[in-house]
Parts: sequence; C-alpha cells; structure tokens
Amino acid sequence: MFDLEPERVTAWIKSNGYSKVAVQLPEGLKVRSSEISDTLRSAGAIPILIGRPCYGACDYYDGYGEFADALIHYGHSAIPSMGEDPNVLFVEARAEVGADALRNHLDGLPSKIGVLASVQYIGLIDAVTEILEESERTAFVSPGDSRIKYPGQVLGCNCSAAENIRDCVDAFLFLGEGDFHPLAAAFGTDIPLFVYNPVTGSMRSVENTRERILRKRFASITIASEAESFTVIVCSKKGQKRIAEAERISALLEKAGKKVYTVVLEEITPEALSHYRTDAFVNTACPRISMDESSRFVKPILTVTEAEIVAGIRKWEDYEFDSIRN
Ligand code: SF4
Repeated sequence: MFDLEPERVTAWIKSNGYSKVAVQLPEGLKVRSSEISDTLRSAGAIPILIGRPCYGACDYYDGYGEFADALIHYGHSAIPSMGEDPNVLFVEARAEVGADALRNHLDGLPSKIGVLASVQYIGLIDAVTEILEESERTAFVSPGDSRIKYPGQVLGCNCSAAENIRDCVDAFLFLGEGDFHPLAAAFGTDIPLFVYNPVTGSMRSVENTRERILRKRFASITIASEAESFTVIVCSKKGQKRIAEAERISALLEKAGKKVYTVVLEEITPEALSHYRTDAFVNTACPRISMDESSRFVKPILTVTEAEIVAGIRKWEDYEFDSIRN
C-alpha cells in the first residue's frame, strides 16, 4: 500500500555509482527491510540496515558515512531547513489510495475548509480540493514555514501550514491516520478539525481526543507547578536540537524560583530519565514524547509551552501545542 519507489531508488544508486547504501526505516516499515535490501542488491549496492529507532526526517542518520557511501531514508519527507546532503535520498512512502469515499462525508463540513495532510497522503490534496469545490465549498491550502516541504503538510511538531490560513477557514480537513499530526493542527489553531482516513474511507472529529489530552496535560502542569526542581532535556538529534529554547526556558524557571539542570539525550525514554532525580522534566525535543507518551513516564514531562505556564509567563487559557520552527 505504501510506494517504496524501487525504480527511483535503483536509478539513483546506479547514476551515482554507490557501492554501499545505508537504509533507515521508521518502525512501521522495518518489516519491509528484506524487500528494500533486495532492491538495493539488484541495483548493484550492498545494503546496510540502520536499526536504531527513527521517528522523522528530524533524526535522519547523518553518521551513515562510517558504514556506507549514501543513505536512503524511508517514510518521511526532507525537512528543508535542515539543508541538503546529495548523498541522502528521502523516499516518502506515499500511500497508494484515492479519496473518492470523501463524497460520503461532506454533509457535516462547513463552507470554507483548510486542507491538511501528513506526507503519506499529501498527493491527495488536489483530488480532495476538487471534491470540496464540486460541492460548492471553498478549499484553502497553504505552504508552511521552512520546516515544511509541501503546501498543506503538517508535522507533529509544526502546523504552520494550518496557522497561515486559520483566519480564512471554518474548519480543517486532515488527510491521514492516527491522532498526533491532526492534534498538532487542532491545538495549534483552535479551529474544528475533521480527520478523513483515506485507507478506511472514514471521517471523525478530533474534539473528544483533544479534550481528553488537554485534561491529562493540565493534570501534569498542575503537578509540575509544585515541583522545586526540573531537568530540561535537550535532544542531540539534528532536527530536534533546541539549545536556545532550553536556555530560555531554564532561565524562566530559575526566575520563578525553581532549581534547573540540563541533560542532553539521544533517546528520551523512562529508563534514560530514571537517573535524574528532579521533581519534573521539560522536553525541548519532539513534542510527541510529552503529548503521546506521557503515561510511560513516572514524573511530569512538560513541553516548552507548558513549562511557560509553570514559569508564570503564559496563562492556562493561552495553552498552545509546542512547535519546532527551524
Ligand atoms: Fe516528527 Fe517529532 Fe521529528 Fe517533528 S520532531 S519531525 S514530529 S519526529
């Protein structure tokens, strides 16, 4: 169902004459590593599978040069602001589906709609725009900032493509699966958001999920407000490293009377944090860790914007999703 583009991969390897090629896959595509390795072998290259976890283009493996001449990173689009390496190829693994079943779900949609998608479904934006406009609705699609490759694309850490049109639309329609990407846009804009899943042909609102997550986040902020000490986490992955944000939030927490420490980590897990005995943590890396995985952690692990509430410079009612802008 996901297009791994074997012809483009083969042509890229052959035209550059690579003899060893490293392969990086997100967890969901690792089951296809044998098939991908066979494609590389047929193209004349020795495949080297990089087994470390991979969640986004933000953690593409720039140490591939120790093992190979080039890297193929599957499952994500490049992040333009991270710069280009000619020896790295991104294969986005676009879903091979259509959007016709959306016609069954138009009744609940308002007249002005912003269209958003995760990269796997970004190729459906034109078809969805056409379907919406056939129904006499107006569709809006905006480019994002320099972290975003395609108009309408949303990352879990960046919904600038939605923010840019929040004043023109009555609702957003997100094309994709799961909660994390659409929630980033729903929190980032405070506008109703519907998720159309092109694989199942189903439509849903994220409002209940949004409310449930907000309640959990407010509980974490309340507990962290009583904390005397914080560890601010900086991630060493190239596209999640926010040293200036870590310094800024550390200074704000210190000003609010908290003791603050800093730790640099590659993977942010409960085991990695168990060594640091502060009352709470601030995560400056991927916001998914705080929003989606907080139940795995024993102590509160706040996002930067949540820590601003604890530091007293942001009001509860101005709650915002944390965004990575560069
Ligand atoms: Fe995705 Fe998180 Fe990386 Fe952003 S920081 S690109 S949401 S993995």
